[in-house]
Amino acid sequence: MHSSSYEELRSKLLSREITCEEVARHYLGRIEAHSDDNIFITVFQDEVLDRARTLDRKLADGAQPGKLYGLPMAIKDNIAMKGARLTCASKILSGYESVYDATAVSRLEAEDALFLGKTNMDEFAMGSSNENSAFGTVPNPFDKKRVPGGSSGGSAAAVANGLCLVALGSDTGGSVRQPAGFCDIVGLKPTYGRISRFGLVAFASSFDQIGVLARNTGDAALVLGVMAGRDTHDATCSRRDVPDYAKQMEDVRVEGLKIGVPKAFFPENLNSDVSGIVMGKLQELREKGAELVDVTLPESDYAIAAYYILVTAEASSNLARFDGARYGFRASDSTDLSSMYVNSRTEGFGREVKRRIMLGTYVLSAGYYDTYYKKAQQVRRVFQDRYREALEKVDVIAGPTSPFPPFGIGDKTGDPLEMYLADVFTVPASIVGMPAVSVPVGLDSLGLPVGMHLVCNFFEEGKLLGIAGKIQRQA
Ligand code: GLN
Repeated sequence: MHSSSYEELRSKLLSREITCEEVARHYLGRIEAHSDDNIFITVFQDEVLDRARTLDRKLADGAQPGKLYGLPMAIKDNIAMKGARLTCASKILSGYESVYDATAVSRLEAEDALFLGKTNMDEFAMGSSNENSAFGTVPNPFDKKRVPGGSSGGSAAAVANGLCLVALGSDTGGSVRQPAGFCDIVGLKPTYGRISRFGLVAFASSFDQIGVLARNTGDAALVLGVMAGRDTHDATCSRRDVPDYAKQMEDVRVEGLKIGVPKAFFPENLNSDVSGIVMGKLQELREKGAELVDVTLPESDYAIAAYYILVTAEASSNLARFDGARYGFRASDSTDLSSMYVNSRTEGFGREVKRRIMLGTYVLSAGYYDTYYKKAQQVRRVFQDRYREALEKVDVIAGPTSPFPPFGIGDKTGDPLEMYLADVFTVPASIVGMPAVSVPVGLDSLGLPVGMHLVCNFFEEGKLLGIAGKIQRQA
């Protein structure tokens, strides 16, 4: 039953070697076997079987199967699915059910995908370890004492443990790529605006993108192709035509490929296994005819500083809507309107979310706006200019996804600044809005996954995934 790619599963489904119902039962069984791992917040137990039977009938009736016919998928729990609980792994949304589907979800559904459930995450997608969840921690599939990464930790663990074939995540500063790196799978953040954000709960709207976590680049490309494209519900969604990603991937050649390798991505203090594995892979590509080009990019530390000013500013505004009146949770012991707001937010939000709302409010306040917020916007522009310049000279920029392998549960929870450094290599692509992917390249001396991070120019997802496909380690 287990398939390592959708292509393989699809051929079994279309030849009727297996049915969608069997696929559904298999994956529900796997989810059940991992129920102690907190990977799913909601499992669509009965709905999946109903839907699978409908899909089976569809094929039996001779109807044309959709592009994702029977593809078992999991959806991060900050993406709206009509009639399903939508928690963002927060107490403040308890009891809330979405009244509409995200555009991405309705497009997948229209192509016959099979949705298994909603996955765990850091509360409101704020975090790098999945530890900021009101629904428990998720163990890393390679070592249960370690984190799976975050914030899309549930989605990454679901794919890596074989509880679904493909999962959706969201990526604001690395939340798809970093957990993909920690769980030995492929994680793609598309160009800002490539996929509609309609139905994705906003964290930092000028950064947020829905992304794909998959076992291989072909599956990621297929799912991206279905979700991408203009949407009248999201004014920031690009109107650009969606190309044939599979074709673009085929056109990629290692021979003559120019790979930009910035020194800034290989600092002195980088974990030696991480730098050794990533550098080793790059040398291998050079031996196969690629050219490694020294490109200069601004220090990633500046990206982290700018990022945490800009995203907290945007979050402080976006999260104002959770006030105890409109959605989910309301504190019971309030005496008037103002205490209802205060108590609901105090009890409903977790520590990290509150920290960010306060930071964001601070950097936007009169007197500090110019010093922090405006300055960070200027830094953002510098990064955009420098990345554009670099990508005029090279096809792709490469480095590690994370400065260290998966860390222990609890190791960084006491020190938010340490935790923020987990995103040092993923945040720059989010600041500039370019597409980026994490691809598995090896295991360190403890057998923990190491990912390589690749960035291409705007809307070059096909080329990016094509390059990643040439690099992915064979498990
Ligand atoms: N870890 C980063 C943060 O906490 C990224 C989060 C994300 O991409 N959603 O902001």
